Amino acid sequence: MEKKMEAKRRIVLVPIPAQGHVTPLMQLGKVLNSKGFSITVVEGHFNQVSSSSQHFPGFQFVTIKESLPESEFEKLGGIESMITLNKTSEASFKDCISQLLLQQGNDIACIIYDEYMYFCGAAAKEFSIPSVIFSTQSAANYVSHPDMQDKVVENLYPLRYKDLPTSGMGPLDRFFELCREVANKRTASAVIINTVSCLESSSLSWLEQKVGISVYPLGPLHMTDSSPSSLLEEDRSCIEWLNKQKPKSVIYISIGTLGQMETKEVLEMSWGLCNSNQPFLWVIRAGSILGTNGIESLPEDVNKMVSERGYIVKRAPQIEVLGHPAVGGFWSHCGWNSILESIGEGVPMICKPFHGEQKLNAMYLECVWKIGIQVEGDLERGAVERAVKRLTVFEEGEEMRKRAVTLKEELRASVRGGGSLHNSLKEFEHFMMTL
Ligand code: UDP
Repeated sequence: MEKKMEAKRRIVLVPIPAQGHVTPLMQLGKVLNSKGFSITVVEGHFNQVSSSSQHFPGFQFVTIKESLPESEFEKLGGIESMITLNKTSEASFKDCISQLLLQQGNDIACIIYDEYMYFCGAAAKEFSIPSVIFSTQSAANYVSHPDMQDKVVENLYPLRYKDLPTSGMGPLDRFFELCREVANKRTASAVIINTVSCLESSSLSWLEQKVGISVYPLGPLHMTDSSPSSLLEEDRSCIEWLNKQKPKSVIYISIGTLGQMETKEVLEMSWGLCNSNQPFLWVIRAGSILGTNGIESLPEDVNKMVSERGYIVKRAPQIEVLGHPAVGGFWSHCGWNSILESIGEGVPMICKPFHGEQKLNAMYLECVWKIGIQVEGDLERGAVERAVKRLTVFEEGEEMRKRAVTLKEELRASVRGGGSLHNSLKEFEHFMMTL
């Protein structure tokens, strides 16, 4: 009797070794695992998610030879290290896949890789394994990826997009180089994106037309799974502190896992927060204040004032913090995960983005969803105080909170049976069977 062809059931995941990228990809891994797929995670030698492998039972973790040490990442900065990592990882990843194929009896259904780990495309092609791109950013951001650079800005001839000044990402031409590589090396059969149609329906429709391959909005992934995948230990003492604060009174401040502030900005922030008379919970990572050892390096009076009025941690359990009844607002750098997490708990935001993608997210928060206040220009204590009061004391903040709660309900509905995530997942599963 002829043996029935079994659908391949193993998926290889390749994250970028950075928290904001690892977390959603691992959440996706959990979802796919619950649908019966086996998961192999391929990682480098640092920021290994396998350090929390106990939260991912049954997952296989494989380490490829690290072509770029952590110190190089720091030295080169985000964009250059991604370009270099991609140039130097192709060969070791191919070796890794060939080993895995032997080990798994050729049972690899597909490789899902972070869009910036585009070196995976070559291995997928060589071994004829389907590949899927995973995007940890918003659909709107994907839309803004430049093939745009030579286009003239509307009504502003001869200014081209590439002539526009940007900040925080280093030279624009290197960023464009990275985007070009991401686009040119694209051999994938589909894109999975951590977003949801109730937030970005027009960008998603645009994206579907633009990329010419199937797009699966499988977000908000953090609502599908609560396994911790934190690369650093979280300080839970802040929850006890929050328990003692009044409802909706606290501003939670985090600039993500990579953002950095100048000492001058931290001082202005400290004065503004204290002058607002609202309690605050502030994440200050080691290394997040440029050129210092942290808050201890601030002048003693400021340090004392901040410690009396607020609570400082190096790492917070962010989702739990945002869901705490004492939290009334989130001062954020507007990373996409932070936004989804904040909306998921119905918390309005104060936006102080650093660079392009975050700036775009901030615009959506302020102008489209109307649940955020942007603080523009140099950080200055009066502006900080005003923004905090607008959100926690004034009527305007209450209106934003109501809208954020409505969005929260929509997000929650999308995850339930019959919701958009639910349906997209079904479609993706079906797609996997066709590969
Ligand atoms: N995060 C956290 N505790 C902290 C700071 C950050 O758990 O003290 C998590 C946060 O919940 C989010 C991720 O780190 O999931 C940061 O991702 P995001 O996209 O917001 O920003 P990035 O760090 O990538 O710039």
